[in-house]
Amino acid sequence: MAKGKIGVTSENIFPVIKKFLYSEQEIFLRELVSNAVDATEKIKALSRKGEFQGELGDITVRVKTDKENKTITVSDRGIGMTAEEVEQYINQIAFSSAGKFLEEYKDSIDAIIGHFGLGFYSAFMVSEKVEIITKSWKEDEKAVRWICDGSPEYEMSDAEKTDRGTDIILHVAEDSVSYLEDSKIEELLKKYCLFMSVPISNGKVKEWKEDKYIDTDKDKIINDTEPLWTKKPADVKEEDYKAFYKKLYPTTFEEPLFNIHLNVDYPFNLTGILYFPKLRTNLEIQKNKIQLYCNKVFVTDSVEGIVPEFLTLLHGVLDSPDIPLNVSRSYLQSDHNVKKISNHITKKVADKLSDIFKNKRDEFEKKWDDLRLFIQYGMLTDEKFYESAKDFFLYKNIDGKYFTFDEYKNIVKENQTDKDKNTIFLYATDKQDQYSFIEAAKAKGYDVLILDGVFDAHFINSMEQKISEVRFMRVDSDTIDKLIRKEDAPKSTLTDKQKADYSTLFDSQTPKNINKNFTVEFDALGSDSMPVMITQSEFMRRMKDMGKMGGPEASFYNNLPDNLNLVVNENHPLVKSLFDDANQKTAADLEKFDSQIAPLKSDLESLEKLSEGKKYDEIPQEEKDKKDEINKKISEIEGERKKVIENYAGQNKLVKQLIDLALLANNMLKGEDLTKFVKRSVELINK
Ligand code: ADP
Repeated sequence: MAKGKIGVTSENIFPVIKKFLYSEQEIFLRELVSNAVDATEKIKALSRKGEFQGELGDITVRVKTDKENKTITVSDRGIGMTAEEVEQYINQIAFSSAGKFLEEYKDSIDAIIGHFGLGFYSAFMVSEKVEIITKSWKEDEKAVRWICDGSPEYEMSDAEKTDRGTDIILHVAEDSVSYLEDSKIEELLKKYCLFMSVPISNGKVKEWKEDKYIDTDKDKIINDTEPLWTKKPADVKEEDYKAFYKKLYPTTFEEPLFNIHLNVDYPFNLTGILYFPKLRTNLEIQKNKIQLYCNKVFVTDSVEGIVPEFLTLLHGVLDSPDIPLNVSRSYLQSDHNVKKISNHITKKVADKLSDIFKNKRDEFEKKWDDLRLFIQYGMLTDEKFYESAKDFFLYKNIDGKYFTFDEYKNIVKENQTDKDKNTIFLYATDKQDQYSFIEAAKAKGYDVLILDGVFDAHFINSMEQKISEVRFMRVDSDTIDKLIRKEDAPKSTLTDKQKADYSTLFDSQTPKNINKNFTVEFDALGSDSMPVMITQSEFMRRMKDMGKMGGPEASFYNNLPDNLNLVVNENHPLVKSLFDDANQKTAADLEKFDSQIAPLKSDLESLEKLSEGKKYDEIPQEEKDKKDEINKKISEIEGERKKVIENYAGQNKLVKQLIDLALLANNMLKGEDLTKFVKRSVELINK
């Protein structure tokens, strides 16, 4: 027996590492099984070259647990190691890399997470002792037994092993006994080793016999040694892709929309299959489902930093030995290879979509509603992707037809271009809520898009910045004749004084208890339009929408009241008769005030004439005082005058009723106001 000291300077580094790597402890199995698979691949290669002439035999890598003796054994029939090799690879390389590792990462836990290649010594994370029994493939080499308890001391001696290969025996530590459960081992093998290239077994297939399960002599193989992504795309059928998706995500019921098979070997090596999932809402939970492999060994399911943010919404696998794995995420983004890989994937994704769009437009349209969110996210966050996607991004109209930007623009250009030469894309965000506005637009021969996605507010802002000749307007952002402003838009025929008085009439009855400001406007609409309507300017609504999108200004925008327009249709018979009635009932009183105001105004005018052409300082104080006094009087009388109209409005049920109808049409009449409206309606009908 030989005793030796491993070349690690700090005593007992393993307990430290164990603590450090707590969350990553389970990767010990990945490391040991991939070492076993590597050793097996090596013997296969030697056999192919003719250097090894014996039988390869059964090369299954076996993982066995023994609860009684508290051991986990990983056995392979690979190349094995000679005593000299154990000395070199285990004592010197494996252990010095352990020391180096600790040195390098002691200050940065982050870098450790996701670290790959902890190698053989990761076995000590779950073991109090690790034993190696190995026999080299080389004839005349004796079998070797090596044992170590994690301190730098180890023991090496001859062993009784006749067969080529290596057994790694973990004497599991007290705090890690949960790994002795078969189900736990199976879970880990499925997570990390599902696609390794040599068959891996976890015990035997069980059979139900005479009231209990008993082992058969068939190995329970957990992996698929030829995963689909390693095959040539030409050899793979559509069903195979679907079946593989199920294998990757056994708990997902939805089928993917499309897939992309990646297969590059120059200038970097990248294989994989990416799937487009159905996406409607809830993006967060859909993220980070891509599994990253390095030569078929599972590394992580977080590809953040490796592919652009929007691509993390895709599902599937990527396998590349060219992605550096033992570095931090922020470093990854600046890595040359990673950049190339990321650009390649983005381009492939865009090409695939463009290809389906060009060659199978029907299919593309059918899947569009599920794809849209993903594509929009990409267009908003990735300039390169935007450049290709803008040609196949589809706009859907209220009737469910799909158009590209150019197609749509051509269709609506003639009818929907305003006097400033902007083509207006009208849209609705809710078919039900904006029903009456949509109908009005259709009646006018306009087309209306449906833009009801979570990114749409953002999206149209960004589209308008990129394409100057198109503007987006929600159908309810103005009355129909002003929605797309043309030269011949009908104008109000009311005088300024009438407008002021009728504004008071309506304004006095607008609701004051909700966080909304109303501005009364008059519009000469057709007599078949509604008497009163509520609109919100596109600009104002977008400000509010920005608030909903979040960001630093969000709370500022959110606290702003809604600024709405109360548009009165001066051509509507009800409005006309209301105006007539109001004129009649208030004329006498208003006249009285008007006759008081008239002389004051003419006094004011003469005073203004006196001071014409003079600088403020040159006007005598007396004149200034006089002016102030008159102005004050006028506004007092005007206040009184206004009250006449307000009183009238308060007593006339029709004003309130018309406003409430408009609120109701916009889904804004709630609670007490709604109840009052219903009561008042009954009274009015009963009259
Ligand atoms: P790495 O696998 O990254 O080289 P490890 O610490 O896991 O580092 O292993 C060190 C070396 O020990 C390996 O390169 C290999 O030469 C040898 N080794 C480990 N496990 C086995 C095994 N099961 N069979 C043969 N050689 C092995």
